[in-house]
Amino acid sequence: MSNTLNCKVLVVGGGPGGYVAAIRAGQLGLDTIIVESAELGGTCLNHGCIPSKALIHASTKYQDLMKLAENEMMGISLSADPKLNLAGLVDWKDSVVQQLSGGVATLLDHAKVRAVKGWATFSNAKTCVVETDDGVVVIHPEHVILANGSVATELPFLPFGNKVISSTEALSPGALPDKLVVVGGGYIGIELGIVYRKLGCDVTIVEADKRILPLFDKQLTRPVERWLKSNGVKVLTSVKAKGMLAEGGKDQLFYVDSKEDQHWLEADKVLVTVGRKPCTEGWGLENMAVDMDGPFVQIDDQCATSMKNVWAIGDIVGEPMLAHKASAQGEMVAEIIAGKKRTFDPVAIPAVCFVEPEIISVGLSESDAKVRGKEQGYDIVVGKFPFAANGRALSMQAGDDGGFIRVVSRADTHQVLGVQGVGAHISELIGEFTLALEMGARLEDIFGTIHAHPTLGEAFPEAAMKSLGHAIHG
Ligand code: FAD
Ligand code: NAD
Repeated sequence: MSNTLNCKVLVVGGGPGGYVAAIRAGQLGLDTIIVESAELGGTCLNHGCIPSKALIHASTKYQDLMKLAENEMMGISLSADPKLNLAGLVDWKDSVVQQLSGGVATLLDHAKVRAVKGWATFSNAKTCVVETDDGVVVIHPEHVILANGSVATELPFLPFGNKVISSTEALSPGALPDKLVVVGGGYIGIELGIVYRKLGCDVTIVEADKRILPLFDKQLTRPVERWLKSNGVKVLTSVKAKGMLAEGGKDQLFYVDSKEDQHWLEADKVLVTVGRKPCTEGWGLENMAVDMDGPFVQIDDQCATSMKNVWAIGDIVGEPMLAHKASAQGEMVAEIIAGKKRTFDPVAIPAVCFVEPEIISVGLSESDAKVRGKEQGYDIVVGKFPFAANGRALSMQAGDDGGFIRVVSRADTHQVLGVQGVGAHISELIGEFTLALEMGARLEDIFGTIHAHPTLGEAFPEAAMKSLGHAIHG
């Protein structure tokens, strides 16, 4: 016997795209069902943003204490090394995740959204069958929001299992490997590689590109490269992983360099982080008659697919694969279904890489702005202010890691086109930078706004003033 449900909106996937869409739809009075096969919160909350940031925080604390045990700093020392209880660390991280996932369930409940746990499959665009623990549920919605997210990309010659792990396993280690090799020096590889290094593992990064974090420009990645070097992380660039071999009783990662010369690296674990791919298989997407854009579901500026009343949001629709983009699209689609006029047209989507030190970028980079300026007939000005000249940075040991804020603007109108930066705690400033871009701020608006002293944020008006040649402290 199956249970049949009708609803106005069916959301597939309980990640930051899906659960936000469902909550907003519920708030707007739309009869809404959300289907999630695993835990509410999706990749971000359970296996992504939140657990990784919890481990970044905890491993930083551990490394700081280790440093104090080695050398007195700020007049503070420790008489013994700190102890790491790995199971305790993983439990703490899990408790943060569970608190947030439980919070999502409560919010859905308050918005009167019905949550169905199970794997959704579609026989056509408006017929969804979910296998739940209590039997089969058939759902007939008026609107479907696809928020199925993404999964880790597996390399055919390095299949996940045993010693080869994805970020999901790396976020819940049962033991720390002596030697960790990370294949892929992008967002996840560098964030988690640093966590493992801070916890005391020997870490090597194997990156196919000429440099790590190739999405960000060299000025931004240089302080990170410096941190990796001074903390003993080996970085191999322009090399490609090719597989695992057992040599002399030891597991080795086999890789080739740019000349195709072969090399081997001893590895107790190999963490493969070479990107993520949209979750488009195993649930009948092919029966929904939606057009694709390469591997992603194709959408227009309202997140509508080619099939009437089927919408798609988040990682399944492509780059940037970031939680806040997914949520923004989810909130918008719920409002469109409720009759509001909305399009997805942000001036910029911020990016933060929680590495050491943190990197942020929003809007046009210096080189992109030069190209845009050439096309549209304007010059650009760039102002860069170092954290080494910022009192708050120095007073919280954040002034000596090469950090800075860079503001890219039009030379004629002084309109801010982009802000990038690197440095400890800089992630917390990106909201202001993004707001400046969304509001169409000019350099005069930035330095005309009084920034509290002493804060890291004071580097923003200084960088803006520097663009016009008159920074006060630099
Ligand atoms: P997801 O969060 O992937 O959720 C999709 C959900 O749909 C999943 O829970 C899945 O179980 C469910 N699902 C799929 N198909 C079905 C089906 N047929 N039936 C039922 N359920 C289904 N982004 C950031 O912005 N900041 C970060 O700091 C950050 N850190 C990250 C760290 C790591 C290690 C990883 C892996 C990712 C990180 N991301 C980060 C990326 C972020 O997690 C994703 O961009 C975000 O989760 C995408 O949200 P989504 O709602 O599109 O999909
Ligand atoms: P990524 O695209 O950031 O990096 C993958 C890296 O792997 C690239 O630098 C690529 O050159 C390299 N690579 C590919 N094949 C290789 C091979 N055979 N050998 C060696 N190197 C190889 O992907 P990711 O780190 O897996 O992260 C996936 C996505 O998750 C990101 O793009 C981002 O959207 C999201 N994410 C965001 C955050 C954040 O916002 N802080 C954190 C983690 C993940």
